[in-house]
Amino acid sequence: MARDGVILATHADALAQAAARLRAGELVAFPTETVYGLGANARDPEAVARIFAAKGRPPSNPVIVHVADPNGAHAIVAEWPQTANTLAHAFWPGPLTLVLPKHPDIPAIVTAGGSTVAVRCPAHPIARELIRLAGVPVAAPSANRSGELSPTTAAHVARSLGDRVGWILDGGSCPGGIESTVVAVTPDGVKLLRPGLILETQLQEIVGDLIVTEPVSNSTKPLPSPGMLTRHYAPRTALEIVEDEAELLFLMNLYHTAGLKVACWQPKGSPVEVATGLYAELHALDAGGFDRIIAILPPNHDDWQAIRDRLTRAASPE
Ligand code: AMP
Ligand code: MG
Repeated sequence: MARDGVILATHADALAQAAARLRAGELVAFPTETVYGLGANARDPEAVARIFAAKGRPPSNPVIVHVADPNGAHAIVAEWPQTANTLAHAFWPGPLTLVLPKHPDIPAIVTAGGSTVAVRCPAHPIARELIRLAGVPVAAPSANRSGELSPTTAAHVARSLGDRVGWILDGGSCPGGIESTVVAVTPDGVKLLRPGLILETQLQEIVGDLIVTEPVSNSTKPLPSPGMLTRHYAPRTALEIVEDEAELLFLMNLYHTAGLKVACWQPKGSPVEVATGLYAELHALDAGGFDRIIAILPPNHDDWQAIRDRLTRAASPE
C-alpha cells in the first residue's frame, strides 16, 4: 500500500487502495462536485469518531452519508416517501442532501444522536467510484478543521488537515465550489435547512413551495436542526461583510488610517461562477498576510442565497 500523503486519483490502484482504507476504518479525503470530503465508513462508529477528532468537530453537528448510486439511500433511511424519490430523480447524482428518518443500523454518532439522517449521492466520478469500490456508505463532512473555510483543492485539505488524515485523493479543483443544499423531507413538506448549489427556485419547480424557516444567522431562537452553527466557513483572517461599495470605502478608509492591511472580495460573475471560486479566493486572501478581509455581499436575491449564507456565517463573531 502506498505511503500516506496526497495521492493523485489517477494513479494506478489509488481508488482501490483508498477504498481498502475506508473499509479498514481509516479516513480518506476525496473530491466531490461541491467541496473535498473527509470520508469514513458510515457503518463503523469508531471510524466516524475519527472524523470528529480530526476536524475538532462538535459532536452536536451531524455528518452527511454519501452513497454510490441513488438506490443506496434506501439502506440509510427508515422511510423513503414519494417526495424523496421525486427529488432524488430530479437532482441525483448531484449536490442535494436529503434529511429523512434514519435507518436503525446507522450509528448514532453519524446523526449527532438525532432520529434523522442526511444522505446524498454525489455526482463527482471519483467520489462515486471510491464509494462503490469501498462497498460501504461513506460519512463525510468537508475536509477542513471545524469552522474553517471548506477545501476545494487537495492542497487546501493538506494545509488544514495534513497531519491528521493519512490519504488525500487529489482530483483537482471541485467544480461546484460550495456545499450541497440540505433539505428535510417531512410529512408537512420540504424544508430548506442549508442553501447551496441547488437553488431554492429549482426545488420549487419540482416540489412546489417549501416550508419557510427563519434565516438561522439572524435568529436568536433555538436552531431548527443540529449542524446549523452560526459561525462557520471562516478564514483565519477577520472577515467583515458590507452591502455595497460605499460601505466598503468607508471601512477601508477607517482601517487604512489605523495602519491595517485590508483585502477586498467582491462577487464577479454569475452565482454559479462565484460559487466555484469563492473558497479558493478566500483561501488565497487568507494566506496573503492581511489584517482584515472585507467582502461585499451579492444582491439579496434567491439566486445568491447560498453565497450570502456562507459569507454571513464566515463573518459571524461566534
Ligand atoms: P458539512 O460538514 O459541510 O458536510 O455539513 C453537514 C451539514 O449537513 C450539517 O452542518 C447540517 O447542516 C446538515 N446535516 C447533516 N445531518 C443532518 C441531520 N440529520 N439533520 C439536519 N441536518 C443535517
Ligand atoms: Mg463543513
